[in-house]
Amino acid sequence: MQKAVFLDRDGVVNEDREYVSRIEDFRFIDGVFEACRELQSMGYTLVIVTNQSGIARGLYSAERYHRLTEWMLAMLAEEGIDIAGVYYCPHHPDGVVAAYRQDCRCRKPRPGMLLQAATELGLDLAHSVLVGDKEADVEAARNAGLALAILVRSGWPVNPATSRADVIVDSLRDVPALLRTAEIHRPGE
Ligand SMILES: [Mg+2]
Ligand SMILES: [Zn+2]
Repeated sequence: MQKAVFLDRDGVVNEDREYVSRIEDFRFIDGVFEACRELQSMGYTLVIVTNQSGIARGLYSAERYHRLTEWMLAMLAEEGIDIAGVYYCPHHPDGVVAAYRQDCRCRKPRPGMLLQAATELGLDLAHSVLVGDKEADVEAARNAGLALAILVRSGWPVNPATSRADVIVDSLRDVPALLRTAEIHRPGE
């Protein structure tokens, strides 16, 4: 089984401009390409897990989301980065689009996307890591039994006093060095 780094998208891979859905609004955060290449060379499978409640909220369509995702993956591939899977949650309990208005199992902090990825891609969750910019990401990592939940400051404002993250760093750029020195064990192992 493969160890993985789960990446939240907005605020980790690209600048969070709230409900990014257009290619022209998508800006990769500095250092993301280098960090992804390094994580790959360290043997980590890269998986993106992203809440996209803008679809349920009627702000953009699933089709537009998929177009942006295809473009993002092409940009990453040009940089030598292979994303094994992109998992997204289009739902929200208060959504205005009936098809997506539900209290689902995939919206972070719930672990549905991580568990699905683990099954489909053969991932070893207990030796995998998540990088996110919100506490919902951290909670999803906990709920999926990941080894490590890393919070970055490149997106949403971080509160170190209340955060349940294991580590807080500036951005994804800092993660390869962190994982090279960290002993990755499941809590209690
Ligand atoms: Mg985010
Ligand atoms: Zn969902």
